[in-house]
Amino acid sequence: MVSGRAAVLRRPRPARELPLAIEGSEPEPPGPADLALGVSACGVCRTDLQLCEGDLRAHRLPVVPGHQIVGRVAQVGDRVQGWKIGDRAGVCWLAWACGECDLCREGRENLCRRARFTGWDVDGGFATHARVNAQFALRLPEGFCDLDAAPLLCGGVIGHRALRLTELTDGARLGLYGFGASARITIQVARHLGIDCYVSSRGQADRERALQLGAAWTGDTLEAPPVALDAAITFAPIGDVVVAALAALAPGGRVIVNAIHLDRIPEFPYRLLWQERRIQSVANVTRRDAEELLALAAEIPITTDTEVHSLEDANLALKRLEAGELAGAAVLAP
Ligand SMILES: [Zn+2]
Ligand SMILES: [Zn+2]
Repeated sequence: MVSGRAAVLRRPRPARELPLAIEGSEPEPPGPADLALGVSACGVCRTDLQLCEGDLRAHRLPVVPGHQIVGRVAQVGDRVQGWKIGDRAGVCWLAWACGECDLCREGRENLCRRARFTGWDVDGGFATHARVNAQFALRLPEGFCDLDAAPLLCGGVIGHRALRLTELTDGARLGLYGFGASARITIQVARHLGIDCYVSSRGQADRERALQLGAAWTGDTLEAPPVALDAAITFAPIGDVVVAALAALAPGGRVIVNAIHLDRIPEFPYRLLWQERRIQSVANVTRRDAEELLALAAEIPITTDTEVHSLEDANLALKRLEAGELAGAAVLAP
């Protein structure tokens, strides 16, 4: 086994204080149910940033973040079937769920109380190597190179789940608040379904990209769209945005909040919620969400915008994400 490297979080602190350290790390042999992967790409998500900065409480330290992993199978556990050395595999946020509890049996393994998450409970993909339970490894569509496939695995999948929770169909009006990596994929799926998209985002470059991807209208972060929305998905990690989205809804509309951490939602007048409007969070993902999104990605086909960094530049990628400077989804290429 060749020696490896990993970007390790030992003590959470602001991105400008460089929370990740590159350390040598020996790949462990896979457990009987696992695949050992050689990592070729790993996306950098806002959740990784929030974990590294301490906004999201670490489940264990030290930990290797990263939950949008693309790699090649290097070793196969004794009890694994259906995978062989050299196969390409993807790993997403859901590392494991019990499969036995009521929630798992209802198809809501994303809410399993015993679920474990990649790069939070188990080491993730900011490394040259990673391990995954084979039951949770994903097949990736051929049309995507490793770097382009990585952003699909969190931003794409959670955006797809959020879109499904809106229950919108052809001709409906959807607001997207924030236009980072996840929203850029979500708009493509929404347009594919014939949904009209209204994008509010602070960056001029983001708004231009939104128009290229088929937005019907774009405006600033808290700007109200010119029509009442049937639903909105908030991606920006700011509580004010949730209230702005709520205020833009038609009667019966809902806001889906895509944020694992949000400090608070400001107080708002009840009339904004009146008329059966709803606010709902979207939490984690299921394997079904991932498989559906990957199939759609190939069918549409989805375009991903990426900004590639070396593993050694993991802190730089975090800083650029924090500053809102990324030109697309940050992807580490070990
Ligand atoms: Zn993520
Ligand atoms: Zn469960």
